[in-house]
Amino acid sequence: MPAPSAFAFPDEASELLRSCVHCGLCLGACPTYRENGNENDSPRGRLYLMKGLADGRLQPTGAVAGHLDLCLDCRACETACPSGVHYGRILESTREELLRARPPGGVGRFLRALFFKQLFPHHERLALLVKALGLLQRSGLRDFLRRSGAVEHLPQRLRDLEAMQPDLAEPPFREHAPAVFPAFGGPPRLRVAFFSGCVMDLVMGGIHRATVKALQAHGCEVLSVPGQACCGALMFHAGEAEAGRSLARRNLQMFEGLGVDAIVNNSAGCGSTLKEYAELLPGDSRAKEFSARVRDVSELLAGLEPVAPLRPVPLTACYDAPCHLLHGQKISAQPLAVLRRIPELKLVELPDADFCCGAAGIYNLTQPEMSWKILARKVEALKQTGAQTVLTGNPGCILQLRQGCREAGLACDVRHPMELLARAVVDPSGA
Ligand code: SF4
Ligand code: SF4
Repeated sequence: MPAPSAFAFPDEASELLRSCVHCGLCLGACPTYRENGNENDSPRGRLYLMKGLADGRLQPTGAVAGHLDLCLDCRACETACPSGVHYGRILESTREELLRARPPGGVGRFLRALFFKQLFPHHERLALLVKALGLLQRSGLRDFLRRSGAVEHLPQRLRDLEAMQPDLAEPPFREHAPAVFPAFGGPPRLRVAFFSGCVMDLVMGGIHRATVKALQAHGCEVLSVPGQACCGALMFHAGEAEAGRSLARRNLQMFEGLGVDAIVNNSAGCGSTLKEYAELLPGDSRAKEFSARVRDVSELLAGLEPVAPLRPVPLTACYDAPCHLLHGQKISAQPLAVLRRIPELKLVELPDADFCCGAAGIYNLTQPEMSWKILARKVEALKQTGAQTVLTGNPGCILQLRQGCREAGLACDVRHPMELLARAVVDPSGA
């Protein structure tokens, strides 16, 4: 008889665990198993470990936690699984319990408190931090610190963080957005609310403006929604579910009663979580209603035609599918269908475009070694395409691919698909 575990595994996750029949058909889809061939770092192996924790056959030791921490939560195994195992939900429930059973100490606890409690839930603090970073960049101090070698003295994780910081040349989105962006070409076909999120709102304002322009060009009136919060994806993936739920409730409040046809977003990771609010807040009717309205921008645009002909964008590009769009939301054809409407855009195939790039939220900071191995494969595949541009619809993947290309000396521009689409749009105002 196994000893009762101190690990309080939730009933829902225990139930889901039983759907795995150990067939192993998911193994070939798993990026970590592909790298090290260790069954414990495969979906089947990890499910076995989680079942062991649930049954009390295993204790939440460092070794067990290590195999689960090495998982990207990319959910490629879900797409590959013929039995419909809801791996992501099981993993996130397990991580929540592991956090209780093995609370992190020292630097780990400090960083979790800093990111998940002090920074991400407070947009104004994030905005201040981004402004300070922008000042550092514009003053030339960042370049000086890099050239002088001072950055090399930082601890590895801070060095990685520093290397990944985006160039903050563009203004943020929400701060400068009007309340309503009118549809181009006459009365709106659809009225949509735009989810602009937290970090992306502040550091990728240009991608948001391009997305709104693409929506306008397809006849959508777009609302900018003040007071919205981070979607909570990073928290849910890291086992900090209560912090995530609190952000989700704030978003439900801010998007309530807008009378819109859809809530549109352009970040695969955020969109996947927004669509799961109904599951993450069971019994909350507002969450159910909210999730039912969430659409990735490519999903929405695939069902609409542009109100005016698009102009040519003569480029060779390839598309890298973000995991939380492909596996989390099961959206594969729509981004390509929308891009194929752009005259003179030549799309070439990227080998293994359905494999993770190693970004996976903050995985590239918590598991840098595995993240780099996975990224190196992706960059090799990019080299084979000869594409001038690689397109991907997730901010973390954009930063990860940019860093990979930079390190490899590969002159491949990394863009969000909406940036390319916006280039093809003829704005009636001439802007
Ligand atoms: S997760 Fe699915 S594919 Fe993988 S071993 Fe279990 S049943 Fe088979
Ligand atoms: S989520 Fe991704 S990394 Fe984790 S087990 Fe599944 S395929 Fe492997």
